[in-house]
Parts: sequence; C-alpha cells; structure tokens
Amino acid sequence: MNELARGFQFKEPPIFERGAPGRTAVSLAPLDVPAVDPKKYFGAAARKEDAGFPEVSEPEVTRHYVRLSQWNFAIDSQFYPLGSCTMKFNPKVNEWAARLPGFGRLHPYAPIAMMQGALELMIRLERGLAEIVGMDHVSLQPAAGAQGELTGLMMMRAYHQDKGRSPKRVLVPDTAHGTNPASCTINGLVAVPFPGGEDGICHPEAIAGLIDDDIAGIMITNPNTLGLFERHLPKIAEMIHAKGGLVYGDGANLNALMGKARPGDLGIDIMQFNLHKTFTTPHGGGGPGCGPVAFKKHLEPFQPSPVPRKRGEAYDLDYDRPKSVGRLRSFYGNFGMMVRAYTYLREMGAEGLKSATELAVLNANYVRARIGEEYPVAYDQTCMHEVIISDKKLQKETGIKTLDIAKRLIDYGYHPPTVYFPLVVAGAMMIEPTETESKETLDGFIAAMQAIAKEAHESPQLITNAPESTQLGRLDEARAARKPVLRWQPPAKRGGAANA
Ligand SMILES: *Cc1c(COP(=O)(O)O)cnc(C)c1O
Repeated sequence: MNELARGFQFKEPPIFERGAPGRTAVSLAPLDVPAVDPKKYFGAAARKEDAGFPEVSEPEVTRHYVRLSQWNFAIDSQFYPLGSCTMKFNPKVNEWAARLPGFGRLHPYAPIAMMQGALELMIRLERGLAEIVGMDHVSLQPAAGAQGELTGLMMMRAYHQDKGRSPKRVLVPDTAHGTNPASCTINGLVAVPFPGGEDGICHPEAIAGLIDDDIAGIMITNPNTLGLFERHLPKIAEMIHAKGGLVYGDGANLNALMGKARPGDLGIDIMQFNLHKTFTTPHGGGGPGCGPVAFKKHLEPFQPSPVPRKRGEAYDLDYDRPKSVGRLRSFYGNFGMMVRAYTYLREMGAEGLKSATELAVLNANYVRARIGEEYPVAYDQTCMHEVIISDKKLQKETGIKTLDIAKRLIDYGYHPPTVYFPLVVAGAMMIEPTETESKETLDGFIAAMQAIAKEAHESPQLITNAPESTQLGRLDEARAARKPVLRWQPPAKRGGAANA
C-alpha cells in the first residue's frame, strides 16, 4: 500500500513543515508609505527573529485544511448515533438562510431601525418554540443547553428570592446528565440525587421523603437518559409545587416529544431547548450552540435582559427589566443559530415536526428490536428516541471492554454511540439514531455491531487494537490528558511525546 495515503486519504504533516521561504498565497501591493523600524516603537521588546509562520501557496494551504477535514468524522459523511446528542442531519437550506446578507452581514451594533427583520425573526422563533412546548415565553439568549440550565436555575432562584425565600435543595434523579448537578452547584444550590425505580423512571414515592421547606425545585429530563418516558411527572410536579418549589425540565430530549406531548402540560415551569440537537443547527464541530429557555408567566419578570419586543408596528429591545437575572450572553445570543432553527421550523411545519418525532422513536425501536441477543437492552420495553444497550454479556464471555467496541466501530465507518452513560447501566452504549437515517443505514450499523460481537469471540485482538484505519490508532488517553503536547515541535524532537 502507498506509504503516504490510504486511497485518497492523505497523511498530512503540520503546516509548519510545508512551503518554502518567500512562498505566499497573497499578492500585496508594494509598500507606499515609509517603512518603520519596530525597535523604534517597541524597543527591546521588538521581536528579533521571524515569527516562524509557514510560507505556503494558496493550493498548499487549501489542500492542507481540506485533507485535515477528511480525517474528521462528520454527520455529512456517515451515521452518528451519539446518544443524548441528537446528531441529526443539518439541512443545507438552513445555511442558505443564515447567509442571506441581511442576516449574515448584520452588525450587532447596527441601529435598531436596521435590525427590524432580525428582531422579527427572533420573536417569531420565540413564539414557535413556546407553542411546541406549551409555555408562555422564551428567551433565546443562552449559548447552549448547559447555559440554558444555568439561566433557568438563576431564574428559579430569583423567583424564590422575590418571594423573600431562599430554599437551596434541588432534586436530581440519578439518570441525569452531568450538567444538571453542575448547574445547581454554580448557582449555589444543592443537588440532591434520588434513584429511579426498577422500571428506570422516577416514582413519587422516591421523592416523597425528600420534599421539605428547603426545596427549591426538581430538575427532570423527559424522556430520561434511558430513553424512557417519565410517566409520573404530572404527579411529581404537583408534589413539588405544593411545597412552593419549581419544576425544571431538561429539554435535550425534546426530539421524542415534538407534536406529541408538551412539557408545559406535564407541569414543567421552565426548561431549555438545545437548538443544535432538536432543531438542526450544526453540532459536533465545536461551533456555537443555542440553548433558549422557555418558561411560564410567573417567571417572566426574571428572564435575561434585553428582551426583544414589538411596540406598535416596530420592534425594539426592552432593557428596563428590574427583576431580570441580567445578561447571559454578549449582544443577543448566537443569532446565526436562530436563523437556522427558524428556517427548520418553517420547512417542517407542525406536521413535519410531529413526523420527525414519530420516525425518531420508530428508528430507535427498530435498533432495539434488531440489535440481537449479544447486546441486551437495558430496561427492555418500548423506548422513545434512544435505546440503551449493555455489552456486559460480551465482556463477561470475552473480556473485551465497552471502549474496545466503540473504537472498533470506527473501523467499520460508524461514529461510536455514547458509552458508559447513563451511569446506572453497566457497560452502557446509548444509541440515538434520529429520524434522518434510513432503514439501510440502520441495517448497516446493526450488521457492524453483530460482526464486532463475532470478532470478540473469534479474534478479540482485532477489537482491542482498534481503530486501525484512522490516522492515529488507539491513543493513550490518560497521558494525552496529563501531558498534552500543545506546541509544534520539529519531527526530530517529537519522539516520545504523547500521541506523536
Ligand atoms: C446535551 C445535553 C445537555 C447539555 O447541553 P449542551 O448544549 O451540550 O450544553 C444537558 N442535558 C442532556 C440530557 C443532554 O443530552
């Protein structure tokens, strides 16, 4: 095989090792002002040698980054069943809309008169989101789900303080995402964990003994991270409300409810959306997210400021919010994500959103029914948009680990599911297919999982050495975290560095 490439997948050195002195990708006009000597301005602090930037041509720099991008996994190349993250396909029409010059080139300091369209879009998106979840208002400001949780709990705290109280305890089930207790702690609240029942969901009896006068509220994810619908939520909400507490809904799993059930009707007072999950704004490449919060009337005074509003025929921003928790994000939030989410809502319509939910649930149940006996389903019953399987049986019979299976899936061309979460399932693999995948794709994934189970029995070294098809093989993750090499070093010096 070619030393430099696997087919068209290229080995690519750091860009510092490309190019040659004097080579350039730009043509600058000759200097037409007097040259200055940096020493005159910076004295001894002036740089004495070249910064050492790479000197490369336009084709070299273009190929460098395109090749690196080909090493990456993307939703545009293959199935991405990362549970709880709702890695659905991002329709390209969203990108068209976000690039319309009136949106894409709008400056956040533009005068209000020039922002009318953007403000109208924000208010329309707020209305649409509020209707989907059965709440009265939405603030689009938070930058991601975790910041939405933070905002929601800040509002919860402000609500209690406005009543002259400062209860501290927030009940959080043991299946919760790690951001839930973290958001409590950052807010000076105390997360009080409680266990789910044998059937994987929360029961009123489990919290009855935990509700006292110090209860600020409960944080609950519905469906929960086991992919199961929290059937007792209305009763639980009633118990919390009876003691003056509030119900926070972690809305990350909204893809299982749209058009079918409204969190507001189930007793939730405040919740976040993850537009980068449910509403197809990009996700997974480290770009910006958007985590709006929806809330009922009684929490309205506390929402982040400024608040977009319509006055007569015109739109403006309301800064006069004495009880507001304040500004959570520079300017008005990640506006480009709002344009994409609004475009998605308009493309789908109410019927489209409902069928997205139905297909997401159907796909997860298809995987559940077909995954095979090597991977028993945890809490085996009809699931919502995701299914949690366990590889405990395979581990016991063959000694391979959950991480090994995840790494081997990469060689089969699939992004691994979420592993080791939720914590209540030993050897958990959390598979969320989403509605955007076809039956053929799911069949391919199931076949890969079954082939890996066979390998585990017959040739386990294939799995424990995986991945073998990527640019870097199995990384020493502990060493990479403890001794990260963040600076470029010449090849000669790179020898023993972690992951070199
Ligand atoms: C993704 C997720 C979050 C956090 O959302 P981010 O947008 O990643 O900050 C919280 N809870 C659950 C259940 C999630 O899946």
